[in-house]
Amino acid sequence: MQIDEHVPLAPKTTMRIGGRARYFAEPKTKEEAEEAVAFAQEKGLPLILLGGGSNTIFADGTIEAVVMRIKADRVSREGNIVTAEAGKLLPVLVNELAEHGLDLSPLTGIPGTVGGAIIGNAGQGPKGVWMDQYVVLVTAFIDGRWRTLAKDKCKFAYRESVFKTMSSIPLLWEVTLTVPSRDPDAIKQNIERLLQRRIETQPHTKTAGSCFKAVGETPAWQLIDAAGLRGEKIGKVLISEKHANFLINEGGATFADTVAIIERVKRSVKEPLEVEMRLIREDGTALWSTKS
Ligand SMILES: Cc1cc2nc3c(=O)[nH]c(=O)nc-3n(C[C@H](O)[C@H](O)[C@H](O)COP(=O)(O)OP(=O)(O)OC[C@H]3O[C@@H](n4cnc5c(N)ncnc54)[C@H](O)[C@@H]3O)c2cc1C
Repeated sequence: MQIDEHVPLAPKTTMRIGGRARYFAEPKTKEEAEEAVAFAQEKGLPLILLGGGSNTIFADGTIEAVVMRIKADRVSREGNIVTAEAGKLLPVLVNELAEHGLDLSPLTGIPGTVGGAIIGNAGQGPKGVWMDQYVVLVTAFIDGRWRTLAKDKCKFAYRESVFKTMSSIPLLWEVTLTVPSRDPDAIKQNIERLLQRRIETQPHTKTAGSCFKAVGETPAWQLIDAAGLRGEKIGKVLISEKHANFLINEGGATFADTVAIIERVKRSVKEPLEVEMRLIREDGTALWSTKS
């Protein structure tokens, strides 16, 4: 498998911030994925998994790691059972299944891949529908072997899964879902309604989505708003006027700008806030998070 060097990372993220990956691999098969894992071990470099990059930004220099983006994206269906490979784009899956009368529409408007959505149990807000609602099985390469985990072993919670807590980086390959049937037109109407709501409430520009996760009951955007930080700017990173939990790259923003504005928010908001966005440093470790 081809492993490229010094590959620009900003274009592979939705916030468009970041330098270059020392090594970059895009495996299409399980064998190629194993090769990339072995390559990282040989080089003594961290392995960083990247999906659609919609929740991730990288430091501005060279990331001394092997960055891997899974390109496998096949989907199969049998009745209400859908199996999708991790590299499948979630919005594409939602639309394709709608054509077949299978309803994943509550997950409308979430950018990124199926793999990313499983790791972070992506979905609506704390009281809404999340990815885990549909999950039956997850297949992943964990500690050097392929394992298939039933849903109850995945320990899903709001934006959490067991995969985030593993000591070695798990490589999610495939997920089996049960997707309820519904009239295709009704699904498409719901997709349209949810997209419209997002257009009204969220900025559509260079962003990585919600930056913070509230620990308590009050949503993070409300805490940030109450601290008077809506519209705040450091360098070229802006706290969105439209949605106070979204950071925006106005063009030419740096990793340092992003870190500085996150620190300002954490200092200004009295209640504890967790950083939901993934910020990867040059040495391949993640800021604020235990995992990369
Ligand atoms: C405009 C906008 C709106 C958003 N709205 C929502 C929302 O409503 N709800 C929500 O939950 N999120 C939302 N997000 C955040 C983001 O879309 C989700 O977190 C998404 O699931 C991330 O998927 P990704 O493939 O882009 O992940 P990336 O950012 O590429 O990676 C995120 C995490 O997943 C891991 N990962 C990805 N693929 C794999 C794999 N195959 N194996 C192992 N690990 C992997 C990465 O290592 C990383 O830890 C939004 C983002 C944007 C930009």
